[in-house]
Amino acid sequence: MADNKRKQYNQKYCENNKEKVIESNKKYSKSPKGIAKKKEYYQKNKDKIISRSCNYFIKNRDRVLIRNRQYREKNRDKIIARDRQYRLKNRDILNAKLKASYHEDIELSRAKNRAYLKKNRARIMARRQEWREKNKSRLNEEKKEYYVKNKERISMLSKKSYSRHREKKLQYQKGYHQTHLEQTKEYRARNRGRLRIRKNLYRERRGKFVLDYKKARCCANCGYKEYPEILQFHHTKRDKSFDISSAIGNKDEAIIKKEMDKCILLCPNCHFWLHFQEKKIK
Ligand SMILES: [Zn+2]
Repeated sequence: MADNKRKQYNQKYCENNKEKVIESNKKYSKSPKGIAKKKEYYQKNKDKIISRSCNYFIKNRDRVLIRNRQYREKNRDKIIARDRQYRLKNRDILNAKLKASYHEDIELSRAKNRAYLKKNRARIMARRQEWREKNKSRLNEEKKEYYVKNKERISMLSKKSYSRHREKKLQYQKGYHQTHLEQTKEYRARNRGRLRIRKNLYRERRGKFVLDYKKARCCANCGYKEYPEILQFHHTKRDKSFDISSAIGNKDEAIIKKEMDKCILLCPNCHFWLHFQEKKIK
């Protein structure tokens, strides 16, 4: 009886002070105590709540979907921020889940990914570009670090790939220069200093390569070897493809080596003498 009376009193109080009650209820539901209580209630009545909300959804499907969409449109930024926060917080778990589902059926996952990429290509590319622009300095840093760490492997791989596709690459490069004359010109003008440094570096390297070749030999006629720098290449079979000393500027070591193997080395004296004899015989 007392309970009933109390209930009545409460009801009356709520009706009279509606706004005040709602306000205080809101406050309570957001307080730690209120949240704990809500959680407790949920755990206790989980099945009931879920089945109820499922039933509600089935009954009011269209209405719920429309309302959801409206809510999402209205609170887009908030939802994205919350989503991002959640993903950052649960990164490891989500990644593990994703990996597991990917490995469960790799072919299906790949097909799905491909289809998605194909459908949203422009959007994805734009987003990727934007992200790269935003994280440019970090990416460069990481790239450098990675390169330093894997220097040998990278250079080995790139050499391998270059030698495998050499002809194709050269052809493509030649074609590119011819169809992009203006761009090439502009690029060269823009990177003049850098290109000169690179060219000098190559020239130095190839110069050393040729010098090492000379150092291991001597004049084929008189055996002179005191200053290998002055030894000269002489084509014995009149099959000269190019001048070796000028090829240092622009040809590959392998090509230069092939040409050097066609020659004998002579000191300047013997070289002049040989050509003098040839002229005399004519
Ligand atoms: Zn000589």
